[in-house]
Formats: sequence, C-alpha cells, structure tokens
Amino acid sequence: MESFKEGKIPYLHCLDCGYNFFYPRDRCPRCHGGKLESRLSSGRGVIFSYTEFQGGIYAIVEMEEGFRLYANVREKVRIGDRVVAVPGKGRPEFVKG
Ligand SMILES: [Zn+2]
Repeated sequence: MESFKEGKIPYLHCLDCGYNFFYPRDRCPRCHGGKLESRLSSGRGVIFSYTEFQGGIYAIVEMEEGFRLYANVREKVRIGDRVVAVPGKGRPEFVKG
C-alpha cells in the first residue's frame, strides 16, 4: 500500500455496523456487510503486545480508530506506550509519540 511511505495507514470502515479493520476484505468481518469505505488513520495508537526478534521489535498496535495491526517498531517499547506511524517501506513502522 503506497500510503505507508507517508506514515498514513489506510483501513476499512463498515458503513453498516461501524466496525473498523485493517486487512483488505470484500466484506465486513463482523456483520458481513459489503458497504465498506476506505479511510486513513491518524497514525496514533498504543502498543498492545510486542516481541523482539533478531534485533528488531515487532508489535501489535491498537490504533485510536479501534483496529489492530502488526508493525515494526524502531525503538524499545512497553505495552501501553503511545506510538505514532512514520514513513516506512512496505509495512507500517512506529516510533514512540
Ligand atoms: Zn459491519
């Protein structure tokens, strides 16, 4: 997704039930409605969980819009830390913010 480079994270919003989710789908995973709208996240979230692997830090970030995604984090974090998306290559990346 091209907009990762600007630190913007696109997600899908269900117009039927209001559910927000990240992974591209044709239908809402909650209500199976097909009226989906693409929106851009603020980029702000908190660390839901994380793991360190081969020198990198990988976290599940809960965005303020309510959806979660898996992302690289560029510095040491703890669960509950506030983070913000920064321009990355390919997948979202976060720093404390
Ligand atoms: Zn829905």
